[in-house]
Amino acid sequence: MAGNLIEFKDVSFRYSEQDPWVLKNVTFTIKEDEWVAIIGHNGSGKSTIAKLINGLLFPQEGEILIGGKKVTEDSIWDIRKDVGMVFQNPDNQFVGATVQDDVAFGMENRGITREVMVERIQSTLEAVGMSDYQFTEPHRLSGGQKQRVAIAGVLAISPRVLILDEATAMLDPNGRKEIMQTVSQLQSKQGLALITITHDLQEVVQANRVIVMNKGEVWKESVPREIFTEKEELRKIGLDVPFVTTLADALKDIGVSISKEPLN
Ligand code: ADP
Repeated sequence: MAGNLIEFKDVSFRYSEQDPWVLKNVTFTIKEDEWVAIIGHNGSGKSTIAKLINGLLFPQEGEILIGGKKVTEDSIWDIRKDVGMVFQNPDNQFVGATVQDDVAFGMENRGITREVMVERIQSTLEAVGMSDYQFTEPHRLSGGQKQRVAIAGVLAISPRVLILDEATAMLDPNGRKEIMQTVSQLQSKQGLALITITHDLQEVVQANRVIVMNKGEVWKESVPREIFTEKEELRKIGLDVPFVTTLADALKDIGVSISKEPLN
């Protein structure tokens, strides 16, 4: 059985002593081959969790372990080699003159040979459907294309942990589905811990597990099927159940029974 790759133990965090706590005693584990979706209304602390995993922030209380190593200012440089993260706004993640420079950026300083870099640039751009743009200047790309390239850049480092924080928000529904298919295939093939933070609850249905955040606390964590049976409770904390679940329930009401099993 796969071991825990990420452990949050009683983690509390606030941005400054004057600010209120934005995470309160957050405890959860993520295994090395799991896809975990983190959902919750705006301001519930999801992005803060992502930044704590990547060591962009450090908790005031509790501890975070990645691969058994405590996340500290000293260990974070080592840990980051294994963690790929893509945020909502891809503009903040572009530095190179061409798309291929940007994909290569994360691989530099990781001891990856030139030959392997060239190979990975091509394979990851192909995986995200951007092969034709290898030599394009990033500023000429649309928001959705930039998100694809940013995802290629993190896939290229072969991370053990991949965090997508609203990283497909600028893609159309088909593009989003396509990218998530690519990423989830890699996830199951390479034994990668995938963490997705998303508003797209259709996407959440495919995850192995869902962590629901509410006001800085873990409100519930379970398999998607369990989470979405609590419709009324979810609505109380500002979340709606995915359309597929509503549709299945509506069909059941008129006597048409469909199994929810394939949704996982
Ligand atoms: P989510 O990702 O669920 O929308 P965040 O983790 O971004 O939530 O934010 C959690 C809380 O922390 C919110 O109340 C937000 O206003 C606050 N917050 C986020 N970033 C900062 C910051 N840089 N300084 C102070 N407060 C912040």
